[in-house]
Amino acid sequence: MSERAEVVIVGGGVVGCSAAWHLRQDGFSGRILVIERDPSYQRASSFLAMGGIRQQFCTPVTVQMVQFSVELWKKFDTTLGTPTRRPRAWFRQRGYLFLANGATASALTKRFNEEKVAGAKVRMVAVDELRRMLPDTMLDDILFGVLGEDDGYANPREVLAGFRAGAELSGAEFMTGEVTAIDQRAGAITGVRLADGTRIAAPIVVNAAGAWAGRLASLAGLNVPVEPLRQMLFRCTLPRPWPYRFPMLIDPGGVHWRHDDATEPGGADKLILAFTNWGEKPGENFTADDDRWKKEFYPAMVNRVPDLHDVTDVHGWAGLYEMTPDHNPVLGPHPGLSGLIFANGFSGHGLMMSPATGKVVSEFVRLGRSVTFDVGIFAPDRFERGVLIHDAATI
Ligand SMILES: Cc1cc2nc3c(=O)[nH]c(=O)nc-3n(C[C@H](O)[C@H](O)[C@H](O)COP(=O)(O)OP(=O)(O)OC[C@H]3O[C@@H](n4cnc5c(N)ncnc54)[C@H](O)[C@@H]3O)c2cc1C
Repeated sequence: MSERAEVVIVGGGVVGCSAAWHLRQDGFSGRILVIERDPSYQRASSFLAMGGIRQQFCTPVTVQMVQFSVELWKKFDTTLGTPTRRPRAWFRQRGYLFLANGATASALTKRFNEEKVAGAKVRMVAVDELRRMLPDTMLDDILFGVLGEDDGYANPREVLAGFRAGAELSGAEFMTGEVTAIDQRAGAITGVRLADGTRIAAPIVVNAAGAWAGRLASLAGLNVPVEPLRQMLFRCTLPRPWPYRFPMLIDPGGVHWRHDDATEPGGADKLILAFTNWGEKPGENFTADDDRWKKEFYPAMVNRVPDLHDVTDVHGWAGLYEMTPDHNPVLGPHPGLSGLIFANGFSGHGLMMSPATGKVVSEFVRLGRSVTFDVGIFAPDRFERGVLIHDAATI
């Protein structure tokens, strides 16, 4: 079988779907084909994520991309609704609150100052105010908090379903298949081939393959360091309906949690917790290591909020971060191969900025350059050039 499209997007996660949707919103009328090998998304990071959305970064363009994205998050459920389905991404702007103790206060203060310079809306919170915000939280060791009031969280699966439905409704086509070859001639992309032998001719291919983006790049003969890295989450049910809603609350040791509100009246009140293990070995590991709940997550949570000691129904799962050496995205065309646009390497922060990423891809496809944001620092060849980004605000 052979096909032709103006744009092939490899990967139908939030990044690929947002790109397809933005292209149509921006008036692109050419054929868009999104190739996704698993429409059930069992291993897609978009399906397994925590849904945190924050603008607390030290890099101005990252802050701008999240701020742009927040404008869509606020109206996502109405904007991405279709005649048959309205998504329930449910962006809850309850803030992202980092707690500082003696060990972390100086780093957090420095980071706070850098975030302000970068344009982030963020403020310091004194302990008295923290006590009012989080009445049953143990704050004896806490010196202050750093709060992003416009930040919050959304339901990742609903974001994914919403973007995909919106892209399809606007005319982007989705094909189930695995891209196993990228064709090129004289330094320019000519198309892709799928595992079942299908050939798709296209002048532009977008690499939105998430944690598999490095592997996809290698099919085009390019070495772009995006590695899969396991990240684990746990969900648990609260002992009773909690009298207030948690923001995304980050304990000084790194364990963090947010509310997972009941979606039906009378449904269980839950939390989702995360804790990045920076000693994790890269690889496609989806094993949930239940020991980490007892040893790391639970003690940190109960130390901070003793009333959470009898949570129930604990369930853990793992997904993949798409890590780059500087924990920042790979975004834009590769100078060594015309027609190949990268939109990956978000290193665990790709959902929150997926609206802005879609806009960037749309501009590169339609205009050949990014207009809304200056994403030059994210260029795919920065690793070869040795020009890495330093941002202290990755967790
Ligand atoms: C546990 C966890 C928690 C996270 N928490 C947050 C958070 O709080 N906030 C946040 O912003 N981000 C978070 N992230 C990161 C976020 O989920 C990702 O950055 C984002 O989902 C990336 O979207 P994507 O579309 O690029 O990748 P994916 O959702 O992984 O989609 C890529 C798709 O490409 C497909 N694919 C790959 N190779 C091929 C091929 N050769 N042919 C066809 N299809 C292919 C895959 O099947 C996959 O569906 C988290 C991630 C994990 C794992």
